[in-house]
Formats: sequence, structure tokens, C-alpha cells
Amino acid sequence: MSDQRIAFITGASRGIGRAIATRLAADGRHAVLCSRSQAPLNDLKSEIEANAGSASVQACDISDSAAFAKAIESAASEHGRLDILVNNAGITRDNLILRMTDEEWDDVISTNLKSVFVACRAAARPMMKGKFGRVVNIASTSGLVGNAGQANYAAAKSALTGFTKSIARELGAKGVTANVVAPGFINTDMTKNLPEQVVEHVKSLCSTKRLGEPEDIAAAVAYVTSDDAGFLTGQTIAVDGGMTMC
Ligand code: NDP
Repeated sequence: MSDQRIAFITGASRGIGRAIATRLAADGRHAVLCSRSQAPLNDLKSEIEANAGSASVQACDISDSAAFAKAIESAASEHGRLDILVNNAGITRDNLILRMTDEEWDDVISTNLKSVFVACRAAARPMMKGKFGRVVNIASTSGLVGNAGQANYAAAKSALTGFTKSIARELGAKGVTANVVAPGFINTDMTKNLPEQVVEHVKSLCSTKRLGEPEDIAAAVAYVTSDDAGFLTGQTIAVDGGMTMC
């Protein structure tokens, strides 16, 4: 069995997940790339390999619990280990509470919260067996301080904190850590349609006076998933340019 750490990253087709996969591969991990769309994952795999990294593709819909668990189990059995799980894929279905539909609520809870439970349950056994694991759940500052129009999204992201602390307590003695990284406003497809005045307002709230880049989040994930971070667990790290400071 190779010593190379195996990292499973959801939402790797674009945005923050793509930057995380690129960074972890550059740091010597084997990146298992997951999202619904296969073509951008194949492109990223080629790009990583062209830069002397290694990657493979497990395309699936993370809201399909059986398919998602199977994708993680397949990756673990193919490589004989699973060391790093980054639950990054997420969606928004924004609406004011008076107008929010059951479907908008259920879609966000299923994709942003239930999938994380499914993934961690599937990853726990190979991580415990290897006596090493790094779980990172990507939340949001909306889950820390709330955001009008995002009751579903903030509920799901906030719930990741209690979930992550619980599995950190359960799995810590087996060498498995679990943490949350909570991005602020990051330049990706998810935020590209925000009105200019909203972007300017957000910038003014940040000590850094800029939006974040996907690489800012990838750098935090690279540390939290490193071998050096074995004493860091159950924490929520806001990477938000100082917007919330809570
Ligand atoms: P993007 O919308 O740019 O990308 C989302 C990724 O998730 C894509 O790779 C998408 O791939 C994948 N995805 C979505 N739904 C599913 C699904 N059902 N199954 C599998 N993959 C899925 O988002 P960002 O990169 O901006 O966000 C990444 C994470 O960071 C999310 O959890 C988001 O909530 C969080 N975040 C983002 C912030 C921002 O400002 N951008 C701020 C705070 C948190 P595909 O469509 O091919 O399936």
C-alpha cells in the first residue's frame, strides 16, 4: 500500500472545491474529485497530472445517499485507505422565510447537511482503520451570524458545527480530527451575480477590504488536513477577511 494520503473532495468541478483539490494535489495528496458533472472533473484530473500530481474521478450526486456512500467506499477500497475528506459541495436556494418553499428547504438541507453525515459515516471506518483522518466540513459565515434570505442555508451550515464537534469527540482517540472551515464572501459562481453595491458593502465589512479567493480557503484546508494539524479538532475557523470575527 502506498504512503500517499488519499483526499476525497466534493464540489471539485469549480470554485472553492477546485482550488482545494488543486492545492491538496500540489501538496502531494492523491485527490479524488467528486461533483455531479464529469467533464470538468476529467479536465481537472488532466491538469493535476500535467503538474505531476495524481487524481481520480468519482462523479455522483451527493444528495443521493446510496450513490454518494458508494463513491466514498469505492475510493477507499481502490486505494486501500482514505485519509482526508473535504465536504465542500453546496448549493443555495435563497428566499425570504414567508416565501420559502418546502422544496427549497429540503434541497438545501439534503445537499448541504445530510450529505455530510452520509460522507462522514462512510469515511469513518477506513479512517479509523488507518488510525488517521482529517475531516473538513465547509460551512459559511451565514451559518455563524445568519443572513436574510438564507434561513435554509444558514440552518444547514450552522448545524455542521454541532455535527462536526460530535464526530470530533467520537473519533479523536482513533487519530481522526474533524473541523469546520467557514468562508466569508469568496469569488466563485455562487457569488458572481451579487449586485455591485452588495459586493462593495461586503468589502467594507472586511478588514482586508476585498472578497476572498478560492485559494484563500484552499490554504486553510491544506493546513487543517495536514499531518501537522493533529491537535486541531472540533473547531470552526472563519476565513472571511475579518468580516465576522466571532
Ligand atoms: P460553486 O457553486 O462555485 O460550486 C459548487 C460545487 O458543488 C460545484 O463543484 C458543484 O458541481 C458541486 N455540487 C453542487 N451540488 C452538488 C450535488 N448535489 N452533488 C455533487 N456535487 C454538487 O460553489 P462555491 O465554490 O462558491 O462553494 C463551495 C462551498 O463553499 C459550498 O459549500 C458553499 O456553501 C461554501 N461557501 C461559499 C461561499 C462563497 O462566497 N462562494 C461563502 C461561504 C460558503 P456540479 O454542479 O457539477 O455538481
